[in-house]
Amino acid sequence: MARPTLIAAERRPTRQIHVGSVAVGGGAPISVQSMTITKTADVEGTLAQIYALASAGADIVRCTCNEKEAAEGLAHIVPRSPVPIIADIHFHHEMALAALEAGVQGLRLNPGNLRKEAEIKQVAQEAKDRGVPIRIGVNAGSLHPDLYKRFGGATPEALVESARMELAYFAEVDFDDVKISVKASSVPLMIEAYRLASETFDHPLHLGVTEAGPPPAGLVKGTAGIGTLLAEGIGDTIRYSLTADPVEEVRAGRQLLEAMGLRERKSVDLIACPSCGRAEIDVIGVARAAQEALESRQLPIQVAVMGCVVNGPGEAREADLGIAAGRRRGHLFIKGKIVRVVPEDEMVAALVEEAEKLVAEGIEARLAAADAGAEAEAEADRRMLIEAKGEDANHSAQKVELIRKTIDEGHEPPATSTDLPA
Ligand code: SF4
Repeated sequence: MARPTLIAAERRPTRQIHVGSVAVGGGAPISVQSMTITKTADVEGTLAQIYALASAGADIVRCTCNEKEAAEGLAHIVPRSPVPIIADIHFHHEMALAALEAGVQGLRLNPGNLRKEAEIKQVAQEAKDRGVPIRIGVNAGSLHPDLYKRFGGATPEALVESARMELAYFAEVDFDDVKISVKASSVPLMIEAYRLASETFDHPLHLGVTEAGPPPAGLVKGTAGIGTLLAEGIGDTIRYSLTADPVEEVRAGRQLLEAMGLRERKSVDLIACPSCGRAEIDVIGVARAAQEALESRQLPIQVAVMGCVVNGPGEAREADLGIAAGRRRGHLFIKGKIVRVVPEDEMVAALVEEAEKLVAEGIEARLAAADAGAEAEAEADRRMLIEAKGEDANHSAQKVELIRKTIDEGHEPPATSTDLPA
């Protein structure tokens, strides 16, 4: 059965721009961005981080351009970068001009702190002449003070108005090669602002929850905001803003897009059972070891780690590959069919080896290479475990019996869910 996806046809139509070689909007794959945390003047350190981000799946990387040395650094970084570079500009329009001179493929301007009309137009004119797009990067935390006053705070309307005013300045020099962001650290505010922006503009939108903080709370906030909007068809490029190694931002971005079916899977999708009374192994420990062993390999398959052979292979039969524990042995299965039984301490190694062979040779070939006695051995383990623990190790049947008894004794359940007390 095909896995459901959020297909491109359901997405809000936007015009397309190009950040270097990366298309953004207009039906292009949703791109993942991150930002370096090195000093941009440190060319080798910054390039090392850009390479780490690119190999984790970043499509575009942003670097700060806050001083002359940073702009000079960009002149060395841009030609050696594996992905397009965007210069992040605050306060100083001359830094935007210097970054353009350095050859960046995009600019991000903050209209909250770069406010002089003449300077904004000068930057837009220069970007236009060089064919470089600009992101109008509105941020609730640094909103233009006049707008703050006019709207009584950083409201969705105020954030969108800030972007509209900047667009109007750009229009005066006939520049429209633009994407827009209206970020906030508040998830509800950010969602409302982007919904309004998507009704107001047809420019590509760059999504993010700004200053989301360290994981796991930062990941949750980023996912709540970005995921909600993506599910509504809004958003053309994304960035998680985490207080963490920026590689984590890229991993989170890629995983979100892959989980939502918005980008082709590049890495393993590890699923694991939550464990229960039947578990024959430390499911959390084995799942973590499998995740660590598999995540650096580019294996675009779903892999399952299941705590027991009684239910594991059946419950995870949709996974391409999996392992289930039973009687100190691991039962390796492909699409629910047992192909090999290995000692417990070799489970993770066997899983990795089989995952690589599966990607290289294909499912049919690996099913054909199954060990002859594996199914019978697995069934024997399964039977013994059922005898030892019973069919219902979680005592679900007992609980159901108790529930029925309680209800039969006179506590009628509500007829429909709407009859439940509020
Ligand atoms: S029944 Fe087995 S596979 Fe399912 S949660 Fe329990 S240990 Fe995991």
